[in-house]
Amino acid sequence: FKKKERTTDEYVDGILQSDRTILAQAITLVESNALKHQNQAQEVLNRILPYTGKSIRIGITGVPGAGKSTFIEAFGTFLCEQGHRVAVLAVDPSSSVTGGSILGDKTRMELLARNHHAFIRPTPSGGTLGGVNRKTRETILLCEAASFDVILVETIGVGQSEIVVRSMVDFFLLLVLTGAGDELQGMKKGVMELADALLINKADGDNLQNAKVACAEYNRLLHYLQPATKGWQTKAFIASALYNEGIKEIWDVISRFHVQARTTGVFESRRSSQTKDWIYSMIKDYLESHFFSNPIIKEQLPLFEQNVVNGKQNVTSVVRELINLYEKQDKK
Ligand code: GDP
Repeated sequence: FKKKERTTDEYVDGILQSDRTILAQAITLVESNALKHQNQAQEVLNRILPYTGKSIRIGITGVPGAGKSTFIEAFGTFLCEQGHRVAVLAVDPSSSVTGGSILGDKTRMELLARNHHAFIRPTPSGGTLGGVNRKTRETILLCEAASFDVILVETIGVGQSEIVVRSMVDFFLLLVLTGAGDELQGMKKGVMELADALLINKADGDNLQNAKVACAEYNRLLHYLQPATKGWQTKAFIASALYNEGIKEIWDVISRFHVQARTTGVFESRRSSQTKDWIYSMIKDYLESHFFSNPIIKEQLPLFEQNVVNGKQNVTSVVRELINLYEKQDKK
């Protein structure tokens, strides 16, 4: 069956009235790779732009099993009870590679999914991480225009996805487990330096004492690291997402951060530089996908690759030849 196409006015009015069905359809429009849809999506985005930006955007990361979905369920429900409207989005690098996704599975947050003050959007599938990046950023704007004032962007700590999410949020929360010394040692310093807070989850039952010890350990370590946000000391806290403990406390931390960053101007300046960076990363993504989807490049690349591997040609000369081919092709 063919779905009735909506007019741009219908999308804009629906979003501004917080109509969740229309919001979901507008996100589908943004996610579409069809040129016609993309053009309309851009019209919608331009119209809603004045109503965007009035939220706190929070990134949440952690290895699979750290308790991200359990935490988001508890945290999101708490926020809704406090009168907030919460949107949950996901950036899932696995979906862009394999087409299947680890995140964004609606059934993982059943309670929150039924809450009328919450909106959960599964991961956009297909395409590159760059494509997912654009779709998530534009989805954030749509959700803000639909009056969602807390945006949670979830990702698993794989590859570049933490950096991508860091580049679109105000506050970045890293969920960790106690796993004793190994975990601490294995933890990438780079990831810790992206975080505005560490939350040691599963601090309950027999694990509570371990969690407290780990918390002190992390705090010692954090002291030596570069903070992610100027003027803000990243600290570790404990929580139990399963038993709803430490949930209010972490929100208090984020609220303090929000007030402080707004007062010092760090909030605004990060948002502007994120928007500027977005321009550059979109140009890079565009050029990259344009280049690699060029038919001549597609045809010639494997041959040149072989030449390099067999030691017949060096990398720089191959790259130059390919770019020359591409540019000639592009001018035609
Ligand atoms: P995700 O992969 O990071 O989304 O992790 P999940 O939220 O799916 O949690 C993985 C497992 O840990 C599930 O079996 C949860 O029930 C469990 N879990 C999550 N949070 C807690 C917690 O605070 N305490 C305990 N004991 N278990 C938890």
